[in-house]
Amino acid sequence: MSHDGKDISGSELDVMRHSAAHVLAKAVQRLYPGSKLGIGPVIENGFYYDIDVPSKLGEDDLPRIEAAMREIIAAEEPFKREEWSKQQALEHYSSRDDNPYKREIIEALSEDESISVYWTGSDWVDLCRGPHIPNSAGLGAFKLTTVAGAYWRGDEHRPMLQRIYGTAWQTQEQLEHYLEQVEDAKRRDHRRIGKELDLFTFSDLVGPGLPLWLPKGATIRRELERWVTDLELERGYQHVITPDVAKVEMYKVSGHWDHYKDVMFPVMEDGEEQLVLRPMNCPHHIQVYRHEKRSYRELPMRIAEFGTMWRYEKSGELSGLSRTRRMDLNDAHIFCTPDQIQDEIVGVVELIEHVYSVLGIADHWYRLSLWDPSDKEKYVDNPEMWDRGEQYLKDAMARLSLDYVVAPGEAAFYGPKIDIQLRDPLGHSETISTIQVDFHLPSQFQLEYVGEDGQFHRPVMIHRGVIGTLVRMIAYLIEKYAGAFPLWLAPVQAVIVPIADRHVDYALSVASELRRSGFRVDVDRRREKMQAKIRDAQAQQVPYMLVVGDRDQQAGTVSVRERRQGDLGAQPLAEFVHSMQERRAAYR
Ligand SMILES: [Zn+2]
Ligand SMILES: [Zn+2]
Repeated sequence: MSHDGKDISGSELDVMRHSAAHVLAKAVQRLYPGSKLGIGPVIENGFYYDIDVPSKLGEDDLPRIEAAMREIIAAEEPFKREEWSKQQALEHYSSRDDNPYKREIIEALSEDESISVYWTGSDWVDLCRGPHIPNSAGLGAFKLTTVAGAYWRGDEHRPMLQRIYGTAWQTQEQLEHYLEQVEDAKRRDHRRIGKELDLFTFSDLVGPGLPLWLPKGATIRRELERWVTDLELERGYQHVITPDVAKVEMYKVSGHWDHYKDVMFPVMEDGEEQLVLRPMNCPHHIQVYRHEKRSYRELPMRIAEFGTMWRYEKSGELSGLSRTRRMDLNDAHIFCTPDQIQDEIVGVVELIEHVYSVLGIADHWYRLSLWDPSDKEKYVDNPEMWDRGEQYLKDAMARLSLDYVVAPGEAAFYGPKIDIQLRDPLGHSETISTIQVDFHLPSQFQLEYVGEDGQFHRPVMIHRGVIGTLVRMIAYLIEKYAGAFPLWLAPVQAVIVPIADRHVDYALSVASELRRSGFRVDVDRRREKMQAKIRDAQAQQVPYMLVVGDRDQQAGTVSVRERRQGDLGAQPLAEFVHSMQERRAAYR
């Protein structure tokens, strides 16, 4: 670590983090004799070490381990590299330190390979490639964060070790900033908020990765879907509905079978017939295009659907709504002539920008995702086609004066794409919206249209998703708003709180009035104190609470509380309905 106040580079930070892992391992072995070390790599923002500790560790044990680490740091122990022969290393891990995990690692190395170890002080050594910081005193600010079980080599048939996670930074300030960010991300975690606000759930009997949308979550989905569908209809898209299953044969023609079969659900077989749940909607929309002979007069033809796709992701990789086995994609395929490509891309970018501005997504950037010519497995091998696609995307972005970053190896198997990148609360980037240019699938399915010249021509396909999959977009929005959805998306837009039982009838009439105007409202009739009802509605992030008592009932008013501004005083009901209508309309 540098002491001159300059920032150290990412790789220097990694060296420091990995050195912290060694200090952690030394501390654990000192505190828990008999502990056997597994591996201790660097990860994003920190490090971990997998250790077979004789006693079960909990988060309560971490401060004690941290204290032992600080002692090692205070002792200013040098890190020293040494080369051992394979024989020497095996001997060490059989006699001085009986460790089957390290022996397994060493056994896998070739005979003539020289093996490096690192000493920390003169009494503790670990097998390691390095590099390391010169001295334990050079460790910056660190904190142990969690401890979890981890199978040796990730194999559930092998022993379970204890994985101790830590984070390390150059300065205390950076550490604190990071810890705050983690706290904020926890507060916004869509899995937690989804449970608190009753948006979605999972069931063991349904299976992992298959969310069940509860009424409130389903409301958010429906509102997003209606809104985007209307925007698409205004822009000349035609919505279709196509099945979730198809013959395997179709995906063989499209190439999806080759590229997706590992993540597709198992094939349903009955005699000759082989059906499978679709991993993508594209080939289905191609069949819609092929349903009739097409003329240039019909192009561009924009076929859209909230299409359901299925991926048989490994259960260990499933997480909340971010990784699921069912996804409903705001999908569309634009079939057009080469001359129309640029205008269509521009139209899609404008639609995405409109949608993002309504949702309040300011922090996004464009990425041009290209193929990797050396990866023949992943990509269709047709360099000329890739160059052509890339040029169309670049020209469109130049016309829109968009800045973008280039990412080789991130294209779809059939063509290059523009990805619109967003950040989650921990700063990781993710892709939700994409625009792809495809010459490949039209040729696989022999698509044609009759041109102005009376001859057959091949159309180009643009694949695009504006809000992407509903699962990921909603996960993103839950975290972005921390559950406080804007009025138009809020599952319950107002809760009416009668002060006493004698105000219930009036409360119900207020509710019907609001429902007639298309609002989603609840009447809280529980035998709770008014304050408790307000507190609960507030916790549910309901935009408006309407308290009604004697005076409101006589005057035809409601006493309005807004979730952030608090008490706004009494308003005539008609006036309140009108102001809600204006606010709701404003999002378009
Ligand atoms: Zn090391
Ligand atoms: Zn597609």
